Amino acid sequence: TFRALRVTKDDQGQPRAGFQTLSTAELPEGEVTVQVTHSSLNFKDGMAVAGRPGILKRLPMTPGIDLAGTVLHDESGTYAPGDGVLLTGWGLGERHDGGYATLARVPARWLTRLPGGTDARWAMSVGTAGFTAMLAVMALEDHAVSREHEVLVTGAAGGVGSTAVALLAQAGFNVTASTGRPQEADFLRSLGARQVIGREELPALKRPLESERWAGVVDTVGGEALAGAYASTRTHGSLAVCGLAASPKLDTTVYPLILRGVNLLGIDSVNCPVPRRDAAWARLARDLPAAALEGVTRVRGLSEVPVLALEILAGRVRGRTVIDVNA
Ligand code: NAP
Repeated sequence: TFRALRVTKDDQGQPRAGFQTLSTAELPEGEVTVQVTHSSLNFKDGMAVAGRPGILKRLPMTPGIDLAGTVLHDESGTYAPGDGVLLTGWGLGERHDGGYATLARVPARWLTRLPGGTDARWAMSVGTAGFTAMLAVMALEDHAVSREHEVLVTGAAGGVGSTAVALLAQAGFNVTASTGRPQEADFLRSLGARQVIGREELPALKRPLESERWAGVVDTVGGEALAGAYASTRTHGSLAVCGLAASPKLDTTVYPLILRGVNLLGIDSVNCPVPRRDAAWARLARDLPAAALEGVTRVRGLSEVPVLALEILAGRVRGRTVIDVNA
């Protein structure tokens, strides 16, 4: 048997999260059985555990969009027992039982080998949030974003945002971090932000084209912040659009695209192709060693996840939260 945080339907048909002991016969299809040691907490996990609609595609379901641990058995022959692996996305914790359990069964092609010199805890302090930040930075680099002018990160104190600040600073960009939490300014400077501005200081969208400021943008909040950032992106600059922490809306015009050649780049961590995935994880291992993540990461037990879910939805979580599934 193994322990899992399950979301099931209650008597009124509403989703409800609770701990269960399950038998291995209840594991889903897949070639690889993984002894999970760590998972992580993402905004999506908060939504799933809190019973918000849209994330879990059927019930009952074990949430947790990330996992890391050790291979117990692999029918595909790709992995040997004892191999360290990680998994983010591919529908884990949405349509396939996820990381909030001590055991998981998954298709072999979804797994990534832990990069040399890293461990499961490191992988989960990166997690989907850090992986997404890496994809965003790679997208800006692919579009030759200038290191001379400012690169804006919105929602900077959150999981994607804080890792994006650290990665951009490491890659030599001139980072401006925008946060709604002024008390996190020192934290953001310690990650490498050269400027820290308040949410309210972001240029609002008044005209389709605002004065040019950002060479690049990593946006995690959507809505008005994204519309404003897009209208004030410099000629031939790029925006990596990652999230919707404030709003899924984007009310704007095509002018920045057609008059300034601005690139609006979509970032999708879930179905990211394997070669890009491997490149991103190799670079994360190189540029974000465990020591660099220490200040951004806290470790909490699986038993705390129902409470943590509400905290991340309320925007009260700083940086990354690793989940020890045995605690
Ligand atoms: P998170 O840790 O909660 O970070 C989100 C941050 O956004 C918060 O820390 C806060 O930053 C800011 N924020 C929250 N509510 C806001 C509001 N109402 N208005 C303005 N800013 C607000 O979550 P996360 O895990 O980093 O995820 C961030 C976003 O990216 C989510 O929308 C998530 O769904 C998305 N995401 C997308 C992908 C992908 O593949 N595209 C992958 C991972 C995550 P400050 O306190 O600093 O202002």
